[in-house]
Amino acid sequence: MRKTSITNSPCEACGACCAFFRVSFPNFETSEVPGGVVPADLTFFSKDAIRYMKGTEAKSPRCVALEGCVGVRVKCTIYENRPSTCRKFNLSWKNNIGNRLCDQARGVFGLQAFSQY
Ligand code: SF4
Ligand code: SF4
Repeated sequence: MRKTSITNSPCEACGACCAFFRVSFPNFETSEVPGGVVPADLTFFSKDAIRYMKGTEAKSPRCVALEGCVGVRVKCTIYENRPSTCRKFNLSWKNNIGNRLCDQARGVFGLQAFSQY
């Protein structure tokens, strides 16, 4: 069963990065490989030997694991098993570290940036 939620985070009311960027990660992170956890059926294997989350390659990207409405209420349905790329992508100014990409994605959806640079 795939179950997840992001608790006590502004990300619960955002999801912009999941609907803006192409999400790639190493093949060994998929469930097809021993020790891998990212559900392989939600990914695709590109010619350049890199895995991507399905949906993020589209002209109007949206990860297939994202549920809900961007900017209102969302959840990652594979949160516990999401790729390292997602794990490393921090909410801007979490722990006092800015993330321009977070702000950029939010801006595309008309959401206020957390950062002032
Ligand atoms: S764009 Fe930033 S605030 Fe929105 S879900 Fe991604 S990390 Fe969270
Ligand atoms: S796997 Fe989850 S956190 Fe990563 S892009 Fe998809 S919905 Fe977002």
